[in-house]
Amino acid sequence: MLSLSCSEHKFEDKVKIQNNNKVVIAHRGASGYLPEHTLPAKAMAFAMGADYLEQDIVLSKDNVPMVIHDIDLETVSDVKLKFLKKKRNDGRFYVIDFTFDELKQLNVSERMNPITHKAVFPDRFPIFTSTFRLHSLQEEIELIKGLNKSTGKNIGIYPEIKEPAFHQKEGKDISKIVLKTLNDYGYKTKNDPCILQCFDAGELKRIRNEFKSELFLVQLMEFKKDEEKLEEISTYADGIGPWYKQIIEGKDKKGNWLISDLVEKAHKYNLKVHAYTFRADQLGDFRTFEELLKVVLYEANVDGVFTDFPDKAVQFMNKN
Ligand code: CA
Repeated sequence: MLSLSCSEHKFEDKVKIQNNNKVVIAHRGASGYLPEHTLPAKAMAFAMGADYLEQDIVLSKDNVPMVIHDIDLETVSDVKLKFLKKKRNDGRFYVIDFTFDELKQLNVSERMNPITHKAVFPDRFPIFTSTFRLHSLQEEIELIKGLNKSTGKNIGIYPEIKEPAFHQKEGKDISKIVLKTLNDYGYKTKNDPCILQCFDAGELKRIRNEFKSELFLVQLMEFKKDEEKLEEISTYADGIGPWYKQIIEGKDKKGNWLISDLVEKAHKYNLKVHAYTFRADQLGDFRTFEELLKVVLYEANVDGVFTDFPDKAVQFMNKN
């Protein structure tokens, strides 16, 4: 009985990736409401109905894959108060210089400017209030798998390998460690609810060709020049993750949104398009968050959105 329902879930998930159902990816969790990449922010995103929860991964000194956006610590923690001696000559505190136990001693805050201590998003959760901690990829997978069990859902993970070249320079093979962790928890193929993303094309190729990973792989991109590589990307990846301004390029004289041909071209190469990052408190030239979502999801036809506000994207998709 249990294995039957499990395989049904897997089938549903496979269908979700392969058909036209669009997905909501909780960017660093429900980061519009709680400090990014904390377990509470992930639990909240799960409850809001996101399809995938994102994990950015950086290795600790003792090779634990940690869920944190930057390779340094000062924009989201009180590291300066606790480990001043670990500051490198460039003034930064690197995750890779800390053991897992040391990282666990840090208090985590809403993202701030480390010099002025002003919040990056002033209307979000107040900086340095309540108690939040860093956590490992394992801890987060266990949270999500636990919630999947207790709710009967099959929410996916969406890990990003951060700065593989930096890790290599520090003598660490981050992809090898992340792939082993994913494998240990049963994330092995495209049928499993896991999408692996990276900006580094060489590393993604390595993941596909050297490690022979069968996971769903997404090539992140931020530059116009990357758009010419779609054919090559389609040889090792299953999707692309562009910045949304590569898709919506502004307005014409009549006030219509100018939409690039990136999504159409990617679809010709059978690549899914998951664009980043959609924020209800950073709308640019859009009047409302709904307008932004409407243009990107239904006019530009992307297949998924990374958003700090998964509840709003889920509500929008349920209505439209
Ligand atoms: Ca990311």
